[in-house]
Order: sequence, then C-alpha cells, then structure tokens
Amino acid sequence: MPQLSRRAFAGALPLGLLGGSLLGGATIEGASALAATQVTAKSPVSVTPLAQIRIGRFTVTALTDGYADMPYDYFPGRTGAEVEQAAISQFTARQTGVRFLFNQYLIEDGERRILIDAGAAGSIGQTGQLPDALNALGLQRDQIDAVIVTHMHQDHMGGLILGGKNNFPKAELYIDRRDVTHWTDPAKRSGAPDYLQTSFKMAEEVVRLYPKLQAIDGEREIVPGVSIVDLTGHTPGHIGVRVEDGGKSMIMVSDMIFPVVHPAATDVFFLFEQDRAAAKAMRDRFFPRAASEGALIAATHMPFPGLGRVVADHGEMRWQVADWALQD
Ligand SMILES: [Zn+2]
Repeated sequence: MPQLSRRAFAGALPLGLLGGSLLGGATIEGASALAATQVTAKSPVSVTPLAQIRIGRFTVTALTDGYADMPYDYFPGRTGAEVEQAAISQFTARQTGVRFLFNQYLIEDGERRILIDAGAAGSIGQTGQLPDALNALGLQRDQIDAVIVTHMHQDHMGGLILGGKNNFPKAELYIDRRDVTHWTDPAKRSGAPDYLQTSFKMAEEVVRLYPKLQAIDGEREIVPGVSIVDLTGHTPGHIGVRVEDGGKSMIMVSDMIFPVVHPAATDVFFLFEQDRAAAKAMRDRFFPRAASEGALIAATHMPFPGLGRVVADHGEMRWQVADWALQD
C-alpha cells in the first residue's frame, strides 16, 4: 500500500478544504453564510475561550488569562536554534518564540468554586483576560471560595493583587509553604536575577493582602475530591491539584510541562527555573508515570485548554491533546 504522507494527502485535497470556504453553495443561505465567513476572515471576532469537562460530580472549566511568546533562547539545556527547529518541526514556530498560554482552571461542585491560579494579569505578554473569562461564566471574582496557587511565579499569582488590591476578597488562598518561605526571603530576593524580581515583589504583596493565606505542608485534601500533589522542582513549593470523583480524575500540573520542548526531553528547562537538577528530577519521575497511567493532565502553558496526556510513542514521550467537548 502506498504511504500517504501528510503533505501528499493535503496536496490531493480540493483547494476548498485547505483554508477556503466550504459554504459556497448556490442557495441563499449558502450565500449569506459565505458572506459571513468572508467578514470573519477580515476581522476575527474576539471570543473568550472556555472549555468544560466533567470529573464525576465536579465541573472543571478551563479559562485563560492570555498568552505570551517566549524567546527561543529562554530554554536552558538547548540552544535557541534547537528550540526553534523543534517548533518548526511541530508547525508551531513563530517569529517571536514559543507561544505560552496562561490557563487557569475553575473547579465547581455546586457548592464551592475553587480556582487554580490567577494569571499574569498584564505583567507578561497579552494577559489580563481572566476577569472577562469569569464574567463569561456569569461570575465575579468575589464569588470564588478558594484559590490554589501552584507556585509563586508572577504568571500564576498576578491576578490576585492587580492594582494593589485583594481581588478575591472571599477566597481562602492556598500556597505551598516552601514557596511562601522562598519568595518572601530577602536573601533569596537579593541574590535572584532581574527577571525574577517581579515574582518576589508580588509574593510580598500576596502575603500582605491575603491574611487568609493558608500555607500548605505536603500533600493534603482541600475539599473531598480535590487534593494537593507535591511536584517540587520548577520551584521549591511547586504543586499540582488532583480532582477525582466517580472513577474519573484529572491532575493539574502547572509548569511541569512546557510546549515544544516537553515531554520529549527532561534536560531542557525554562529560564525561571532556579534549581535545574530538581526540575529535571521532577520530570524524570512524572512523565513516565503519567504515560503508564494515562493520566488526564491540565497544564498552564500548553495550547488552550491545556488538556492532554503524556504518551510513550515508540520510546519517545509526546503530548497527546485530550478530547474534551461532547465526551460524556
Ligand atoms: Zn508559569
């Protein structure tokens, strides 16, 4: 049987299926649909992306605060040229680097609303959309009962304190104690590079503005079915959140996995990682386990909605996007 490469297959398709319109029918409806398509092509409508899945009694909604392109030379362990080449081979290369999304996840069980992370809130790239995303669900920030912050990098906590205010006034706040200690330590701050200073500054504000902050020690349940998983490495107190009910589960792994470079390798890092040996150890442990369990993963910086699995494909680890719509 002749082998059909993707390119050969695409080449064999009628042009209309390759980015053209499928709606060029002769009916009046067809004509108006075609006109609508053309208008859309000229000026894309801005929509707030939302994606919902069910995990037993929980509804988990993926939201996003926005995106930023990370320069190709922000990935120690590989040269900028190597990272760019990997992006090219995955058809995701951009002039300005690797696109990182900033995804948050809202967990609801009908009684409580728990938000995982709060976004960069304009401190990096094109971000600051989380309040709009919540509004699209009919929610205000004061309706959030708890926020779990996976670690104290600016892109995960900026939304907590934007404008120098407590933006989630009713929320219990959960952060691992090792991160609270690290990011409020003046000695660590003065020894840290410039690009981490914003995170130190924000951490101080979070502690000041959230008297209800609960520092977490080790793995524990937040509410039945929602528990903290220790994923130390990316930062000292980097944590994940497992949501589990009715035989289904999902684990939000935050910065365990970055687009383009992971999970194919574990000896490639993101610039913000201060302890590379710890970051590598975390991924060396986690990727094979996730692959053998087929764990449904939610990841902050992967393409929206950040839901997927690590799969072992002929000995190579790769990211497999998970189906999420119309799956129940
Ligand atoms: Zn991050």
